[in-house]
Amino acid sequence: MLALHGTGVSDGIVIGKAFVLQRDLPEIPEYAIPKEYIEEEVTRFQRAVEASRRQLLAIREHIPANAPPEASSFLDAHLLMLDDKMISMAPIDAIRQKQCNAEWSLKTQSDILSAMFEQMDDHYLRNKKTDVNQVVTRILRNLLQQNYDEDEKIAAGAIVVADDLTPADTVMLKHNHVHAFVTSLGGPISHTAILARSLGIPAIVSAHSATRYVRSGEELIVDGKRGMLIIAPDRHIVEEYRRRKKEILRQRRELNRLRTSRAVTRDHRRIMLLANIELPADVRAAAQAGAEGIGLYRTEFLFMNRPAPPNEEEQFRAYVKVVKSLPGKPVTIRTLDLGADKQVDGGRAGATITVNPALGLRAVRLCLHDTSLFRPQLRAILRASVYGDVRMMIPMLSSQDEIFRVLDLLEETKSELKRSRVKFNPKIPVGGMIEVPAAAISADLFAPYLDFFSIGTNDLIQYTLAIDRVDDAVNYLYDPLHPSVLRLIDITIQAGKKARIPVAMCGEMAGDPRYTSLLLGLGLTEFSMHPVTLLEVKKIVRDSNVGELTRFAKRVMKIRDIREVHTLVEKLNQR
Ligand code: PEP
Ligand code: MG
Repeated sequence: MLALHGTGVSDGIVIGKAFVLQRDLPEIPEYAIPKEYIEEEVTRFQRAVEASRRQLLAIREHIPANAPPEASSFLDAHLLMLDDKMISMAPIDAIRQKQCNAEWSLKTQSDILSAMFEQMDDHYLRNKKTDVNQVVTRILRNLLQQNYDEDEKIAAGAIVVADDLTPADTVMLKHNHVHAFVTSLGGPISHTAILARSLGIPAIVSAHSATRYVRSGEELIVDGKRGMLIIAPDRHIVEEYRRRKKEILRQRRELNRLRTSRAVTRDHRRIMLLANIELPADVRAAAQAGAEGIGLYRTEFLFMNRPAPPNEEEQFRAYVKVVKSLPGKPVTIRTLDLGADKQVDGGRAGATITVNPALGLRAVRLCLHDTSLFRPQLRAILRASVYGDVRMMIPMLSSQDEIFRVLDLLEETKSELKRSRVKFNPKIPVGGMIEVPAAAISADLFAPYLDFFSIGTNDLIQYTLAIDRVDDAVNYLYDPLHPSVLRLIDITIQAGKKARIPVAMCGEMAGDPRYTSLLLGLGLTEFSMHPVTLLEVKKIVRDSNVGELTRFAKRVMKIRDIREVHTLVEKLNQR
Protein backbone atom coordinates (compact mmCIF):
# COMPACT_ATOMS: atom_id res chain seq x y z
CA MET A 1 0.00 0.00 0.00
CA LEU A 2 1.24 3.49 -0.85
CA ALA A 3 -0.35 6.91 -0.37
CA LEU A 4 0.40 9.96 -2.55
CA HIS A 5 -0.66 13.47 -1.73
CA GLY A 6 -1.78 15.96 -4.33
CA THR A 7 -4.24 18.82 -4.49
CA GLY A 8 -7.87 17.74 -4.25
CA VAL A 9 -9.78 19.79 -6.81
CA SER A 10 -13.15 18.05 -6.88
CA ASP A 11 -14.74 16.37 -3.86
CA GLY A 12 -15.85 12.77 -3.49
CA ILE A 13 -14.46 9.33 -2.63
CA VAL A 14 -14.00 6.73 -5.38
CA ILE A 15 -12.71 3.18 -4.98
CA GLY A 16 -11.91 1.47 -8.27
CA LYS A 17 -9.43 0.11 -10.79
CA ALA A 18 -6.68 2.26 -12.30
CA PHE A 19 -6.34 3.04 -15.98
CA VAL A 20 -2.97 4.63 -16.65
CA LEU A 21 -3.09 6.90 -19.65
CA GLN A 22 0.36 7.08 -21.22
CA ARG A 23 0.66 10.12 -23.35
CA ASP A 24 4.42 10.16 -23.93
CA LEU A 25 5.39 11.23 -27.38
CA PRO A 26 8.09 9.08 -28.93
CA GLU A 27 11.21 10.76 -30.25
CA ILE A 28 10.26 13.27 -32.90
CA PRO A 29 11.87 12.05 -36.15
CA GLU A 30 13.98 14.67 -37.91
CA TYR A 31 14.83 14.20 -41.57
CA ALA A 32 15.18 16.14 -44.82
CA ILE A 33 12.51 15.86 -47.50
CA PRO A 34 13.63 15.65 -51.14
CA LYS A 35 12.36 18.60 -53.17
CA GLU A 36 9.93 16.55 -55.24
CA TYR A 37 8.13 15.27 -52.12
CA ILE A 38 7.75 18.64 -50.39
CA GLU A 39 4.12 19.15 -51.43
CA GLU A 40 3.26 15.62 -50.33
CA GLU A 41 4.72 16.40 -46.91
CA VAL A 42 2.65 19.60 -46.76
CA THR A 43 -0.47 17.55 -47.53
CA ARG A 44 0.46 15.05 -44.80
CA PHE A 45 0.67 17.94 -42.31
CA GLN A 46 -2.66 19.40 -43.47
CA ARG A 47 -4.32 15.99 -43.12
CA ALA A 48 -3.06 15.70 -39.53
CA VAL A 49 -4.53 19.14 -38.77
CA GLU A 50 -7.83 18.07 -40.33
CA ALA A 51 -7.84 14.80 -38.37
CA SER A 52 -7.28 16.81 -35.19
CA ARG A 53 -10.20 19.06 -36.09
CA ARG A 54 -12.47 16.05 -36.69
CA GLN A 55 -11.48 14.53 -33.34
CA LEU A 56 -12.18 17.75 -31.44
CA LEU A 57 -15.53 18.17 -33.19
CA ALA A 58 -16.43 14.57 -32.33
CA ILE A 59 -15.54 15.20 -28.68
CA ARG A 60 -17.74 18.29 -28.72
CA GLU A 61 -20.62 16.11 -29.92
CA HIS A 62 -20.12 13.92 -26.85
CA ILE A 63 -20.45 16.68 -24.32
CA PRO A 64 -23.30 15.66 -22.03
CA ALA A 65 -26.40 17.82 -22.38
CA ASN A 66 -26.11 18.95 -18.77
CA ALA A 67 -22.40 19.86 -19.00
CA PRO A 68 -21.43 23.41 -18.13
CA PRO A 69 -20.80 25.81 -21.03
CA GLU A 70 -17.08 25.91 -20.17
CA ALA A 71 -16.83 22.37 -21.56
CA SER A 72 -17.50 23.43 -25.10
CA SER A 73 -15.78 26.80 -24.84
CA PHE A 74 -12.43 25.13 -24.07
CA LEU A 75 -12.90 22.89 -27.08
CA ASP A 76 -13.79 25.90 -29.20
CA ALA A 77 -10.57 27.56 -28.06
CA HIS A 78 -8.58 24.49 -29.22
CA LEU A 79 -10.45 24.48 -32.53
CA LEU A 80 -9.64 28.17 -33.01
CA MET A 81 -5.98 27.46 -32.35
CA LEU A 82 -5.99 24.91 -35.16
CA ASP A 83 -6.90 27.82 -37.44
CA ASP A 84 -4.19 30.08 -36.07
CA LYS A 85 -1.50 30.82 -38.62
CA MET A 86 1.24 30.24 -36.05
CA ILE A 87 0.12 26.63 -35.78
CA SER A 88 -1.45 25.79 -39.13
CA MET A 89 0.66 27.87 -41.57
CA ALA A 90 4.10 28.49 -40.03
CA PRO A 91 5.05 24.77 -40.07
CA ILE A 92 4.08 24.60 -43.77
CA ASP A 93 6.39 27.52 -44.55
CA ALA A 94 9.15 25.73 -42.66
CA ILE A 95 8.59 22.46 -44.55
CA ARG A 96 8.88 24.36 -47.83
CA GLN A 97 11.82 26.58 -46.88
CA LYS A 98 13.92 24.23 -44.80
CA GLN A 99 12.84 21.06 -46.59
CA CYS A 100 12.28 19.27 -43.29
CA ASN A 101 9.67 16.72 -42.27
CA ALA A 102 6.31 17.83 -40.85
CA GLU A 103 6.85 16.58 -37.26
CA TRP A 104 10.19 18.35 -37.00
CA SER A 105 8.82 21.56 -38.44
CA LEU A 106 5.78 21.55 -36.11
CA LYS A 107 7.94 20.75 -33.08
CA THR A 108 10.32 23.63 -33.95
CA GLN A 109 7.39 26.03 -34.26
CA SER A 110 5.90 24.83 -30.98
CA ASP A 111 9.29 25.38 -29.23
CA ILE A 112 9.30 28.95 -30.56
CA LEU A 113 5.77 29.53 -29.23
CA SER A 114 6.64 27.95 -25.85
CA ALA A 115 9.68 30.20 -25.47
CA MET A 116 7.48 33.20 -26.25
CA PHE A 117 4.94 32.23 -23.57
CA GLU A 118 7.72 31.39 -21.11
CA GLN A 119 8.79 35.02 -21.06
CA MET A 120 5.34 36.21 -20.09
CA ASP A 121 4.51 36.70 -16.44
CA ASP A 122 0.82 36.65 -16.98
CA HIS A 123 -1.06 33.71 -15.54
CA TYR A 124 -3.75 33.70 -18.23
CA LEU A 125 -1.16 33.56 -21.02
CA ARG A 126 0.72 30.80 -19.22
CA ASN A 127 -2.51 28.81 -19.35
CA LYS A 128 -2.64 29.49 -23.09
CA LYS A 129 0.79 27.88 -23.42
CA THR A 130 -0.67 24.66 -22.01
CA ASP A 131 -3.50 24.90 -24.54
CA VAL A 132 -1.04 25.37 -27.41
CA ASN A 133 1.00 22.37 -26.25
CA GLN A 134 -2.13 20.25 -26.07
CA VAL A 135 -3.14 21.20 -29.60
CA VAL A 136 0.38 20.62 -30.96
CA THR A 137 0.54 17.21 -29.25
CA ARG A 138 -2.73 16.23 -30.88
CA ILE A 139 -1.43 17.11 -34.35
CA LEU A 140 1.88 15.33 -33.67
CA ARG A 141 0.11 12.18 -32.55
CA ASN A 142 -1.95 12.25 -35.71
CA LEU A 143 1.20 12.73 -37.80
CA LEU A 144 2.82 9.80 -36.01
CA GLN A 145 -0.41 7.84 -36.42
CA GLN A 146 -0.70 7.21 -32.70
CA ASN A 147 -4.24 6.23 -32.18
CA TYR A 148 -6.36 8.38 -29.90
CA ASP A 149 -9.18 5.82 -30.07
CA GLU A 150 -7.21 3.43 -27.86
CA ASP A 151 -7.14 6.00 -25.05
CA GLU A 152 -10.75 6.74 -25.54
CA LYS A 153 -11.76 3.12 -24.87
CA ILE A 154 -11.22 3.48 -21.16
CA ALA A 155 -13.40 1.12 -19.14
CA ALA A 156 -16.44 2.66 -17.50
CA GLY A 157 -15.94 3.10 -13.78
CA ALA A 158 -12.15 3.35 -14.04
CA ILE A 159 -9.95 5.84 -12.24
CA VAL A 160 -7.76 7.49 -14.84
CA VAL A 161 -4.17 8.31 -13.88
CA ALA A 162 -2.21 10.52 -16.27
CA ASP A 163 0.62 13.01 -16.26
CA ASP A 164 -1.75 15.71 -17.45
CA LEU A 165 -5.19 15.87 -19.03
CA THR A 166 -6.60 18.36 -21.47
CA PRO A 167 -10.08 19.81 -21.00
CA ALA A 168 -11.04 17.72 -24.06
CA ASP A 169 -9.82 14.58 -22.27
CA THR A 170 -11.92 15.51 -19.26
CA VAL A 171 -15.07 15.71 -21.38
CA MET A 172 -14.24 12.29 -22.89
CA LEU A 173 -13.71 10.85 -19.42
CA LYS A 174 -17.17 11.97 -18.41
CA HIS A 175 -18.60 10.54 -21.61
CA ASN A 176 -16.88 7.21 -20.89
CA HIS A 177 -18.28 7.20 -17.34
CA VAL A 178 -14.86 7.41 -15.75
CA HIS A 179 -15.38 7.76 -12.01
CA ALA A 180 -12.35 9.85 -10.99
CA PHE A 181 -8.99 11.06 -12.24
CA VAL A 182 -5.57 11.81 -10.87
CA THR A 183 -2.83 13.77 -12.64
CA SER A 184 0.84 14.20 -11.74
CA LEU A 185 0.81 17.80 -12.96
CA GLY A 186 -1.68 20.68 -13.03
CA GLY A 187 -3.03 23.19 -10.53
CA PRO A 188 -6.34 23.80 -8.78
CA ILE A 189 -7.43 26.61 -11.09
CA SER A 190 -6.47 24.93 -14.37
CA HIS A 191 -9.25 24.50 -16.93
CA THR A 192 -9.18 20.77 -16.28
CA ALA A 193 -9.72 21.23 -12.53
CA ILE A 194 -12.56 23.70 -13.10
CA LEU A 195 -14.21 21.24 -15.49
CA ALA A 196 -13.85 18.33 -13.07
CA ARG A 197 -15.72 20.34 -10.44
CA SER A 198 -18.47 21.38 -12.81
CA LEU A 199 -18.87 17.88 -14.23
CA GLY A 200 -18.83 16.37 -10.76
CA ILE A 201 -15.85 14.02 -11.29
CA PRO A 202 -13.77 13.59 -8.10
CA ALA A 203 -10.21 14.57 -8.97
CA ILE A 204 -6.71 15.14 -7.66
CA VAL A 205 -4.02 17.14 -9.48
CA SER A 206 -0.28 17.55 -8.84
CA ALA A 207 0.04 14.06 -7.31
CA HIS A 208 3.67 13.97 -8.34
CA SER A 209 4.93 10.75 -9.96
CA ALA A 210 1.46 9.16 -9.85
CA THR A 211 2.01 7.58 -13.28
CA ARG A 212 5.29 6.08 -12.09
CA TYR A 213 3.78 4.29 -9.12
CA VAL A 214 0.40 3.18 -10.45
CA ARG A 215 -0.12 0.20 -12.78
CA SER A 216 -3.25 -0.23 -14.87
CA GLY A 217 -5.70 -2.60 -13.18
CA GLU A 218 -4.43 -1.86 -9.69
CA GLU A 219 -6.96 -0.98 -6.99
CA LEU A 220 -7.02 2.71 -5.99
CA ILE A 221 -8.82 4.99 -3.58
CA VAL A 222 -9.26 8.64 -4.58
CA ASP A 223 -10.18 11.06 -1.83
CA GLY A 224 -10.94 14.22 -3.80
CA LYS A 225 -11.53 16.34 -0.70
CA ARG A 226 -8.21 15.62 0.99
CA GLY A 227 -6.22 15.21 -2.24
CA MET A 228 -5.14 11.70 -1.24
CA LEU A 229 -4.47 8.80 -3.61
CA ILE A 230 -4.07 5.36 -2.03
CA ILE A 231 -2.50 2.69 -4.23
CA ALA A 232 -3.27 -1.00 -3.54
CA PRO A 233 -5.01 -0.31 -0.21
CA ASP A 234 -5.35 -3.00 2.50
CA ARG A 235 -8.71 -4.55 3.05
CA HIS A 236 -9.47 -2.60 6.22
CA ILE A 237 -8.54 0.73 4.54
CA VAL A 238 -10.98 -0.10 1.73
CA GLU A 239 -13.62 -0.88 4.32
CA GLU A 240 -12.93 2.37 6.15
CA TYR A 241 -13.32 4.37 2.91
CA ARG A 242 -16.51 2.47 1.98
CA ARG A 243 -17.88 3.52 5.33
CA ARG A 244 -16.83 7.17 4.78
CA LYS A 245 -18.35 7.15 1.33
CA LYS A 246 -21.66 5.89 2.68
CA GLU A 247 -21.52 8.53 5.39
CA ILE A 248 -20.93 11.29 2.80
CA LEU A 249 -23.90 10.06 0.75
CA ARG A 250 -26.06 9.95 3.85
CA GLN A 251 -25.04 13.49 4.79
CA ARG A 252 -25.79 14.70 1.26
CA ARG A 253 -29.26 13.16 1.34
CA GLU A 254 -29.91 14.73 4.70
CA LEU A 255 -28.67 18.13 3.56
CA ASN A 256 -30.94 17.93 0.52
CA ARG A 257 -33.91 17.97 2.85
CA LEU A 258 -32.89 21.48 3.89
CA ARG A 259 -33.30 22.78 0.35
CA THR A 260 -36.60 24.46 1.02
CA SER A 261 -36.18 25.30 4.70
CA ARG A 262 -35.34 28.84 5.65
CA ALA A 263 -31.92 29.93 6.86
CA VAL A 264 -32.94 31.08 10.34
CA THR A 265 -30.76 30.69 13.42
CA ARG A 266 -31.96 29.18 16.68
CA ASP A 267 -32.39 32.69 18.08
CA HIS A 268 -34.57 33.63 15.10
CA ARG A 269 -32.11 35.70 13.03
CA ARG A 270 -32.81 35.57 9.34
CA ILE A 271 -29.68 34.92 7.25
CA MET A 272 -29.60 35.27 3.44
CA LEU A 273 -27.82 32.50 1.56
CA LEU A 274 -27.14 33.44 -2.04
CA ALA A 275 -25.20 31.91 -4.91
CA ASN A 276 -22.21 33.01 -6.97
CA ILE A 277 -22.55 32.36 -10.70
CA GLU A 278 -20.28 32.80 -13.70
CA LEU A 279 -22.70 32.19 -16.57
CA PRO A 280 -26.49 32.21 -17.00
CA ALA A 281 -26.46 28.39 -17.15
CA ASP A 282 -25.16 28.23 -13.57
CA VAL A 283 -28.52 29.46 -12.30
CA ARG A 284 -29.84 25.90 -12.40
CA ALA A 285 -27.32 24.70 -9.81
CA ALA A 286 -28.08 27.77 -7.71
CA ALA A 287 -31.82 27.08 -7.78
CA GLN A 288 -31.29 23.37 -7.03
CA ALA A 289 -29.32 24.26 -3.93
CA GLY A 290 -32.18 26.49 -2.78
CA ALA A 291 -30.26 29.78 -3.11
CA GLU A 292 -32.32 32.86 -2.28
CA GLY A 293 -30.87 34.78 -5.16
CA ILE A 294 -27.56 35.64 -6.78
CA GLY A 295 -25.08 37.53 -4.62
CA LEU A 296 -22.37 37.66 -7.27
CA TYR A 297 -22.75 37.30 -11.02
CA ARG A 298 -19.21 37.42 -12.44
CA THR A 299 -20.06 39.00 -15.79
CA GLU A 300 -16.49 38.89 -17.12
CA PHE A 301 -17.03 35.22 -18.02
CA LEU A 302 -19.32 36.42 -20.83
CA PHE A 303 -16.24 38.06 -22.33
CA MET A 304 -14.00 34.98 -22.33
CA ASN A 305 -12.98 32.63 -25.15
CA ARG A 306 -14.02 35.01 -27.88
CA PRO A 307 -12.25 37.53 -30.06
CA ALA A 308 -14.57 40.53 -29.44
CA PRO A 309 -16.55 41.62 -26.37
CA PRO A 310 -20.31 40.93 -26.31
CA ASN A 311 -22.35 43.99 -27.33
CA GLU A 312 -25.05 45.66 -25.23
CA GLU A 313 -27.80 43.48 -26.69
CA GLU A 314 -26.03 40.20 -25.97
CA GLN A 315 -25.24 41.30 -22.41
CA PHE A 316 -28.83 42.45 -21.91
CA ARG A 317 -30.14 39.05 -23.04
CA ALA A 318 -27.75 37.19 -20.70
CA TYR A 319 -28.74 39.34 -17.69
CA VAL A 320 -32.47 39.08 -18.40
CA LYS A 321 -32.14 35.31 -18.70
CA VAL A 322 -30.71 35.10 -15.20
CA VAL A 323 -33.26 37.53 -13.74
CA LYS A 324 -36.21 35.75 -15.35
CA SER A 325 -35.09 32.33 -14.19
CA LEU A 326 -35.15 33.48 -10.56
CA PRO A 327 -38.45 35.36 -10.34
CA GLY A 328 -38.74 37.64 -7.33
CA LYS A 329 -35.18 36.92 -6.20
CA PRO A 330 -32.31 39.40 -6.05
CA VAL A 331 -29.67 39.22 -8.78
CA THR A 332 -26.45 41.10 -8.07
CA ILE A 333 -24.72 41.84 -11.34
CA ARG A 334 -21.09 42.70 -10.81
CA THR A 335 -19.68 45.04 -13.42
CA LEU A 336 -16.71 43.80 -15.40
CA ASP A 337 -13.83 42.48 -13.34
CA LEU A 338 -11.35 41.93 -16.14
CA GLY A 339 -7.60 42.09 -15.72
CA ALA A 340 -5.03 40.29 -13.55
CA ASP A 341 -5.66 36.54 -13.98
CA LYS A 342 -8.74 37.28 -16.06
CA GLN A 343 -7.10 38.82 -19.14
CA VAL A 344 -9.36 37.89 -22.01
CA ASP A 345 -9.32 38.49 -25.71
CA GLY A 346 -12.92 39.64 -25.63
CA GLY A 347 -12.24 42.40 -23.15
CA ARG A 348 -9.58 44.75 -24.10
CA ALA A 349 -8.01 44.90 -27.52
CA GLY A 350 -4.24 45.34 -27.38
CA ALA A 351 -4.10 44.75 -23.62
CA THR A 352 -0.55 45.14 -22.42
CA ILE A 353 1.06 42.71 -20.06
CA THR A 354 2.23 44.48 -16.92
CA VAL A 355 4.73 43.28 -14.35
CA ASN A 356 2.15 43.31 -11.57
CA PRO A 357 -1.24 42.70 -13.18
CA ALA A 358 -3.11 42.20 -9.89
CA LEU A 359 -2.14 45.76 -8.96
CA GLY A 360 -2.74 47.10 -12.44
CA LEU A 361 -5.53 48.36 -14.61
CA ARG A 362 -8.17 45.82 -13.62
CA ALA A 363 -11.87 45.77 -12.72
CA VAL A 364 -13.40 49.22 -12.10
CA ARG A 365 -10.09 50.89 -13.01
CA LEU A 366 -10.21 49.33 -16.46
CA CYS A 367 -13.91 50.22 -16.86
CA LEU A 368 -13.29 53.86 -16.00
CA HIS A 369 -10.22 53.94 -18.23
CA ASP A 370 -12.07 52.50 -21.20
CA THR A 371 -15.67 53.65 -21.00
CA SER A 372 -16.42 52.19 -24.43
CA LEU A 373 -16.26 48.82 -22.65
CA PHE A 374 -18.23 50.03 -19.62
CA ARG A 375 -21.09 52.07 -21.11
CA PRO A 376 -22.76 49.18 -23.00
CA GLN A 377 -22.65 47.13 -19.79
CA LEU A 378 -24.29 49.92 -17.77
CA ARG A 379 -27.01 50.24 -20.40
CA ALA A 380 -27.55 46.47 -20.45
CA ILE A 381 -27.78 46.24 -16.64
CA LEU A 382 -30.21 49.20 -16.46
CA ARG A 383 -32.39 47.74 -19.19
CA ALA A 384 -32.43 44.36 -17.41
CA SER A 385 -33.41 46.07 -14.14
CA VAL A 386 -37.10 46.29 -15.09
CA TYR A 387 -37.36 42.50 -15.22
CA GLY A 388 -36.77 41.86 -11.52
CA ASP A 389 -34.77 42.68 -8.43
CA VAL A 390 -31.51 43.67 -10.16
CA ARG A 391 -28.65 45.17 -8.19
CA MET A 392 -25.39 46.46 -9.56
CA MET A 393 -22.06 45.90 -7.81
CA ILE A 394 -18.70 47.58 -8.45
CA PRO A 395 -15.54 45.47 -8.02
CA MET A 396 -12.17 46.52 -6.62
CA LEU A 397 -13.04 49.95 -5.31
CA SER A 398 -10.11 51.65 -3.63
CA SER A 399 -11.19 55.30 -3.44
CA GLN A 400 -14.32 57.42 -3.09
CA ASP A 401 -13.54 59.07 -6.40
CA GLU A 402 -14.10 55.79 -8.23
CA ILE A 403 -17.58 55.55 -6.70
CA PHE A 404 -18.38 59.12 -7.82
CA ARG A 405 -17.17 58.47 -11.35
CA VAL A 406 -19.21 55.27 -11.69
CA LEU A 407 -22.31 56.97 -10.26
CA ASP A 408 -21.85 59.92 -12.70
CA LEU A 409 -21.59 57.54 -15.63
CA LEU A 410 -24.64 55.66 -14.40
CA GLU A 411 -26.63 58.92 -14.17
CA GLU A 412 -25.54 59.86 -17.71
CA THR A 413 -26.63 56.43 -18.94
CA LYS A 414 -29.99 56.76 -17.19
CA SER A 415 -30.56 60.14 -18.89
CA GLU A 416 -29.69 58.65 -22.28
CA LEU A 417 -32.16 55.80 -21.77
CA LYS A 418 -34.83 58.22 -20.57
CA ARG A 419 -34.38 60.36 -23.65
CA SER A 420 -34.82 57.30 -25.85
CA ARG A 421 -37.83 56.20 -23.77
CA VAL A 422 -36.18 52.95 -22.75
CA LYS A 423 -37.45 51.56 -19.44
CA PHE A 424 -35.20 50.93 -16.42
CA ASN A 425 -35.42 50.99 -12.64
CA PRO A 426 -34.31 54.52 -11.66
CA LYS A 427 -33.71 53.32 -8.09
CA ILE A 428 -31.47 50.39 -8.97
CA PRO A 429 -29.37 49.63 -5.86
CA VAL A 430 -25.63 50.12 -6.39
CA GLY A 431 -23.21 48.35 -4.08
CA GLY A 432 -19.46 48.14 -3.80
CA MET A 433 -17.11 45.26 -3.27
CA ILE A 434 -14.81 45.58 -0.33
CA GLU A 435 -11.80 43.64 -1.53
CA VAL A 436 -8.92 46.09 -1.25
CA PRO A 437 -7.67 46.89 2.27
CA ALA A 438 -8.08 50.62 1.53
CA ALA A 439 -11.80 50.05 0.91
CA ALA A 440 -12.28 48.19 4.19
CA ILE A 441 -10.43 50.87 6.14
CA SER A 442 -12.49 53.57 4.38
CA ALA A 443 -15.77 51.66 4.54
CA ASP A 444 -17.38 54.44 6.62
CA LEU A 445 -16.39 56.95 3.93
CA PHE A 446 -17.82 54.81 1.14
CA ALA A 447 -21.08 53.86 2.89
CA PRO A 448 -23.02 57.14 2.34
CA TYR A 449 -22.76 56.67 -1.44
CA LEU A 450 -23.55 52.97 -1.70
CA ASP A 451 -26.64 50.83 -1.09
CA PHE A 452 -24.71 47.77 0.13
CA PHE A 453 -21.26 46.28 0.63
CA SER A 454 -20.05 42.85 -0.41
CA ILE A 455 -16.76 41.62 1.02
CA GLY A 456 -14.60 39.86 -1.59
CA THR A 457 -12.29 37.86 0.64
CA ASN A 458 -10.36 36.28 -2.24
CA ASP A 459 -8.85 39.59 -3.22
CA LEU A 460 -9.01 41.09 0.27
CA ILE A 461 -6.74 38.28 1.53
CA GLN A 462 -4.50 38.53 -1.54
CA TYR A 463 -3.93 42.27 -1.05
CA THR A 464 -3.81 42.28 2.75
CA LEU A 465 -1.31 39.46 3.06
CA ALA A 466 0.51 40.34 -0.20
CA ILE A 467 0.09 36.85 -1.68
CA ASP A 468 -0.63 36.41 -5.35
CA ARG A 469 -3.77 34.26 -5.36
CA VAL A 470 -2.61 32.30 -8.41
CA ASP A 471 0.94 31.66 -7.24
CA ASP A 472 1.32 28.13 -5.81
CA ALA A 473 4.53 29.05 -4.05
CA VAL A 474 2.85 31.46 -1.61
CA ASN A 475 -0.41 29.60 -1.16
CA TYR A 476 0.73 28.40 2.26
CA LEU A 477 0.37 31.98 3.54
CA TYR A 478 -3.32 32.13 2.57
CA ASP A 479 -5.23 32.39 5.84
CA PRO A 480 -8.74 33.81 6.23
CA LEU A 481 -8.23 33.72 10.01
CA HIS A 482 -5.22 36.05 9.90
CA PRO A 483 -6.01 38.80 12.45
CA SER A 484 -5.51 41.54 9.84
CA VAL A 485 -8.14 39.91 7.60
CA LEU A 486 -10.58 39.43 10.47
CA ARG A 487 -10.09 43.04 11.58
CA LEU A 488 -10.85 44.33 8.06
CA ILE A 489 -13.97 42.18 7.88
CA ASP A 490 -15.06 43.46 11.28
CA ILE A 491 -14.45 47.11 10.30
CA THR A 492 -16.55 46.64 7.17
CA ILE A 493 -19.47 44.95 8.96
CA GLN A 494 -19.49 47.63 11.65
CA ALA A 495 -19.35 50.46 9.08
CA GLY A 496 -22.28 48.89 7.22
CA LYS A 497 -24.29 48.58 10.45
CA LYS A 498 -23.62 52.18 11.41
CA ALA A 499 -24.66 53.44 7.99
CA ARG A 500 -27.62 51.02 7.94
CA ILE A 501 -26.63 49.35 4.71
CA PRO A 502 -26.51 45.56 4.28
CA VAL A 503 -23.11 43.83 4.26
CA ALA A 504 -22.69 40.59 2.34
CA MET A 505 -19.66 38.42 1.70
CA CYS A 506 -19.08 36.76 -1.67
CA GLY A 507 -15.47 35.52 -1.49
CA GLU A 508 -14.67 31.81 -1.01
CA MET A 509 -14.60 32.32 2.77
CA ALA A 510 -18.40 32.83 2.73
CA GLY A 511 -18.93 29.32 1.35
CA ASP A 512 -16.42 27.57 3.57
CA PRO A 513 -18.32 25.89 6.44
CA ARG A 514 -15.23 26.22 8.67
CA TYR A 515 -15.81 29.97 8.92
CA THR A 516 -19.62 30.18 9.05
CA SER A 517 -19.94 30.36 12.84
CA LEU A 518 -17.24 33.00 13.25
CA LEU A 519 -18.75 35.15 10.48
CA LEU A 520 -22.19 34.89 12.08
CA GLY A 521 -20.59 35.99 15.33
CA LEU A 522 -19.01 38.97 13.58
CA GLY A 523 -22.50 40.02 12.49
CA LEU A 524 -22.54 38.89 8.86
CA THR A 525 -26.10 38.30 7.62
CA GLU A 526 -25.64 37.65 3.87
CA PHE A 527 -23.43 34.89 2.49
CA SER A 528 -22.94 34.33 -1.24
CA MET A 529 -21.11 31.22 -2.39
CA HIS A 530 -20.67 28.43 -4.91
CA PRO A 531 -23.93 26.42 -4.74
CA VAL A 532 -22.05 23.20 -3.82
CA THR A 533 -21.57 24.22 -0.17
CA LEU A 534 -24.78 26.19 0.33
CA LEU A 535 -26.73 23.48 2.15
CA GLU A 536 -23.83 22.68 4.45
CA VAL A 537 -23.65 26.35 5.41
CA LYS A 538 -27.43 26.43 5.86
CA LYS A 539 -27.26 23.53 8.30
CA ILE A 540 -24.70 25.40 10.44
CA VAL A 541 -26.82 28.56 10.34
CA ARG A 542 -29.91 26.68 11.52
CA ASP A 543 -27.94 25.10 14.39
CA SER A 544 -26.47 28.44 15.52
CA ASN A 545 -27.26 30.92 18.18
CA VAL A 546 -26.01 34.33 17.07
CA GLY A 547 -26.04 35.70 20.61
CA GLU A 548 -23.58 33.00 21.72
CA LEU A 549 -21.49 33.39 18.60
CA THR A 550 -21.20 37.14 19.08
CA ARG A 551 -19.59 36.55 22.45
CA PHE A 552 -17.32 33.95 20.88
CA ALA A 553 -16.28 36.33 18.05
CA LYS A 554 -15.46 39.06 20.58
CA ARG A 555 -13.13 36.61 22.32
CA VAL A 556 -11.48 35.66 19.03
CA MET A 557 -10.86 39.30 18.15
CA LYS A 558 -8.97 39.80 21.39
CA ILE A 559 -6.61 36.84 20.98
CA ARG A 560 -3.03 37.84 20.31
CA ASP A 561 -1.69 34.46 19.17
CA ILE A 562 -2.84 33.47 15.68
CA ARG A 563 -2.45 29.74 16.48
CA GLU A 564 -4.88 30.15 19.32
CA VAL A 565 -7.43 31.66 16.89
CA HIS A 566 -7.20 28.53 14.77
CA THR A 567 -7.56 26.22 17.76
CA LEU A 568 -10.54 28.10 19.11
CA VAL A 569 -12.37 28.20 15.76
CA GLU A 570 -11.70 24.47 15.24
CA LYS A 571 -13.04 23.70 18.71
CA LEU A 572 -16.19 25.69 18.02
CA ASN A 573 -16.74 23.85 14.73
CA GLN A 574 -16.46 20.46 16.42
CA ARG A 575 -19.25 21.19 18.89
C1 PEP B 1 -13.27 38.11 -4.31
O1 PEP B 1 -12.26 38.71 -4.64
O2 PEP B 1 -13.44 37.60 -3.18
C2 PEP B 1 -14.38 37.92 -5.27
C3 PEP B 1 -15.53 37.40 -4.92
O3 PEP B 1 -14.15 38.27 -6.57
P1 PEP B 1 -13.29 37.37 -7.59
O4 PEP B 1 -13.00 36.05 -6.93
O5 PEP B 1 -14.11 37.25 -8.81
O6 PEP B 1 -12.07 38.22 -7.77
MG1 MG C 1 -12.30 39.91 -6.43
